[in-house]
Amino acid sequence: MARIRILADGVRGKIAAGEVITRPASVIKELLENSLDAKAKRIEVEITNGGKDKCLVNDDGQGMDREDAGLALERYATSKIYSIDDIDRVLTLGFRGEALASIAQVSRFDMETSDGLVGTMVIAEAGIIKSIHDSARPRGTRIKVSDLFFNFPARLKFMKSASWERRLITDLIKNYALIQPGVSFYLSDGGQEILNLPAAGSTRQRIKVVYPRYPTDHLIDIDLDLGTTRITGFVSHPAAASRNEFGNIYVNSRPVKYPRIYRALLEAYQNPQSPPAFMLDIRVDPQSVDTNIHPTKSEVKFRDERYVLDLLIQTVKGVIYKKPVTVEYGTVPSDRPRAVTQPGLSQDMAAPYVAAVTTETGRAADEFWQLHETYILAQTRSGLIIVDQHVAHERIIYESIMHGRVQSQRLLFPITIELTPEEHRVYEKTKHVLAEMGIEFKEFSAHTIVIDSLPADARTNREEIAGMFGELDGLGNLIEEKSEVARVLACRGAIKAGQRLSPAEMQSLIDRLFATENPYICPHGRPIVLRWTIEELAYRFGRT
Ligand code: ADP
Ligand code: MG
Repeated sequence: MARIRILADGVRGKIAAGEVITRPASVIKELLENSLDAKAKRIEVEITNGGKDKCLVNDDGQGMDREDAGLALERYATSKIYSIDDIDRVLTLGFRGEALASIAQVSRFDMETSDGLVGTMVIAEAGIIKSIHDSARPRGTRIKVSDLFFNFPARLKFMKSASWERRLITDLIKNYALIQPGVSFYLSDGGQEILNLPAAGSTRQRIKVVYPRYPTDHLIDIDLDLGTTRITGFVSHPAAASRNEFGNIYVNSRPVKYPRIYRALLEAYQNPQSPPAFMLDIRVDPQSVDTNIHPTKSEVKFRDERYVLDLLIQTVKGVIYKKPVTVEYGTVPSDRPRAVTQPGLSQDMAAPYVAAVTTETGRAADEFWQLHETYILAQTRSGLIIVDQHVAHERIIYESIMHGRVQSQRLLFPITIELTPEEHRVYEKTKHVLAEMGIEFKEFSAHTIVIDSLPADARTNREEIAGMFGELDGLGNLIEEKSEVARVLACRGAIKAGQRLSPAEMQSLIDRLFATENPYICPHGRPIVLRWTIEELAYRFGRT
């Protein structure tokens, strides 16, 4: 490891300094980051009483030689940067040289470290080094912090219960563990094991161990490499959006809080009611991210934030909506691949779907079941999907309207509607856009209209149409927005819950649903498809 030096005055002034030790979890965070910076492969954390009595971190990293061990507790002592320009290149988790000094100041501190050649023990109390002597230990560093804030009684008050503090530490370690799957982590409190995470071969594997109940096959891999920017990680399938055990964001592998990224993700999922699970590492040139805005370094800012957020939204949308291959259905390979006949569907949009159907093929119509005349159940290659028939149809109609693919169907028996003065006002405002959407009217008298044609797909009646004007009125100014009108129309025209469907109708609905751009979320943000994999069912039945 590079040698520790004390940062020059000029550099100190430019780094976001400040007190960083507020509770046991902040001690563990700093010690853990130092161990990771020292390239440890095994990190053991032992606490007692939620860390209030003792926080100990033992690693097998590079360790320190005698001289560095003596310097490490000094303020601004760091081996990670030497000049202010180095901050723009820094990829280590630490760089301020403050943590050990701040921790030592508020505790009884002992550190045993070895670079593999010489072992050193440093004992300090309230920041004053009491002794430095030889010790025999293998390469690595063990730091024990006892009686945190023993000399700052006022701060003791800000700590919460042992179980609360333990929870914070556990979550913290899980957060680092997901981004460092190759490192083994262990946590115990009062000798009782809390986490035992052996080195994992992959992040997916690590997630399985950290969140054993999470169905990891719901996770979609993300790997977008644009040279200077790379986004890797996982996001949950929209159909599994209600499972959100973790939502971790990393920038250059540093765990961060970045509310704008979180909001961008929700936007990509079209604001679902329950947030998705995800872990995303955004790697950029260190120069294009400012890590130096907050002492805990848990907040960072991209210099070109808009670009990164857009990229993220596009990437996530790309993987969650554009790849119907993730929702394969049909178990029996068939020799009668069915062509997709979707009037007006552009070649470009049909392509991935056709591919999915021809490779997955072979659903017989009787592989669909209707539950309570509301949900459609279908067997898929990996398990079972449940589709809400109303919102599925709503999505189909909505997209066909928005893409101008509506085919209008002339009614055998035109529908005559009397409009109230308000409804008539709404009719006047929206008739052009409604006509564009496949509803054609004739004006019969001042307040009577006759509907000649409806969108071919809509299943609607007089009451629905009359109700539609009321609902459109409720949109207020939004009535100018085509997408808002389309949402209302889609909802009014869609098959309702309680409507019996034949197997052929169910099949057609599902086929057309998976030909839409976003089969998982309805225009109002509700889920359309729920998915259970065989693996998850087996888990729930206690088979695994
Ligand atoms: P920083 O991490 O910002 O450099 P710290 O106060 O956390 O500052 O640590 C000071 C220095 O002590 C580090 O730069 C590093 O050289 C050394 N050090 C601290 N912890 C360890 C460790 N677990 N293994 C090896 N070296 C360490
Ligand atoms: Mg540090």
